[in-house]
Amino acid sequence: MTLDIADLAQLDRAHIIHPYLPGSATERVVMISGSGCRLTDSQGRGYLDATGGLWLAQVGHGRTELADVAHAQMAKLEYFTSFWEFSNERAIELATRLASLAPAPLSHVYFTSGGSEGNEAAIKMARYYHHRRGESSRTWILARSKAYHGIGYGGGSATGFPLYHEGFAPMMPHVSHLTPPWPYRTELYGDQPLSPEQVTDFLIRELEERIAEIGPGNIAAMIGEPIMGVGGMLVPPADYWPRVREVLDRHGILLIFDEVVTAYGRVGEWFAAQYFGVTPDIIVTAKGITSGYVPLGALLVGDHVAEVLLRDHGFPMGYTYNGHPVATAVATANLDLIEREGLLARATGLGAFLHAELEAQLGELPVVGEIRSVGMMLAVELVRDRATRAPLPLHPERMPHDVIRRETGVIVRDSAHSLVLSPPLIMTEAEAREVATALRGVLERTEPTGE
Ligand code: PLP
Repeated sequence: MTLDIADLAQLDRAHIIHPYLPGSATERVVMISGSGCRLTDSQGRGYLDATGGLWLAQVGHGRTELADVAHAQMAKLEYFTSFWEFSNERAIELATRLASLAPAPLSHVYFTSGGSEGNEAAIKMARYYHHRRGESSRTWILARSKAYHGIGYGGGSATGFPLYHEGFAPMMPHVSHLTPPWPYRTELYGDQPLSPEQVTDFLIRELEERIAEIGPGNIAAMIGEPIMGVGGMLVPPADYWPRVREVLDRHGILLIFDEVVTAYGRVGEWFAAQYFGVTPDIIVTAKGITSGYVPLGALLVGDHVAEVLLRDHGFPMGYTYNGHPVATAVATANLDLIEREGLLARATGLGAFLHAELEAQLGELPVVGEIRSVGMMLAVELVRDRATRAPLPLHPERMPHDVIRRETGVIVRDSAHSLVLSPPLIMTEAEAREVATALRGVLERTEPTGE
């Protein structure tokens, strides 16, 4: 069946349930092709991708090298299971590579098909690890408000937005949410303005109190995004994660880093764990591991955890696509590209350039409260009043990111009153400037009422 390009939008409306799109919405943007940071839709309109698809297109669109690798692997061995004693050379190759990139002692790898599956696996691993060690009471998971850990019932319960829970209850019991680190919004921590170190003091005190309330012997793990993405690119104070790690260590609680967004170069390191100088017990990754060319996730698991999981009959959960040969082959080729093209250093350099460009073009606008970034994760927080930092009212039909796309073709996302950017790491400086100019064109006309 060949579809007429003119019918695509109508057929989409008739047949596809899109996440987060009401049935009443008529607009569709049907992407047809991509190259570098540019995309073209079914109407022939061009776009500049400043979101990296959904925060993952590290090496950019249209890399035929990756298509060639997928083709060759599919022709040789498209799939066989990785359950039990079965394995394949591509999965072994990737696991060996990941073990060499990850901080010691995270040299074991558990494959999934994406980030949500990864967080389900991590939460189950944490509980199972304690169970196997004779501490079955350790069932609680500490998480944070404004966290996003995907849409499974474990990770979804750890997610800290009411929207993701409403109507899906009962969520998983034994999850407790802490206050997120968000130094721009010190009203979260009381009436007085606080320094970043004082923000950490507050959060560490809260963590200690929560552990005492639940009982350390009842807590399996704390899960957190090193930098909260969906929450609005919230960058914690530099001492936050080292101090959290120290508290958790004291109480035998595992630390799970959800690096589904932050891994594979986005923050200028292979993993944000390296950026913050902290070694978690488990790192969950997905997205950038293949730059989105095929679905894949990988957990990097500490040897001390793996040793316990592998005892007796082993770890009793597996996904059909665990260690998929085509996905792992593409991932290895993608990591090769990231390395060969120096994209870690590029994320740091280009991220600083884009940040400076945003500052120069938007920094003085009345609706811009804060511009923050680490590497190629950037956010522009929108306010009604720069002095009070009151959030900008948002109108669903005129969301700034929609207006920017419709008027300029530049694609950014909104996240909790911030415009968030996570462009491909191969973006040029001219394209980065084009992104900043597009934001300025719309934001300089935006009234404090959000109109
Ligand atoms: N964790 C984080 C931090 C994410 O940002 C996402 C997706 O955006 C997920 C988990 C879920 O990953 P997936 O959509 O691949 O299931």
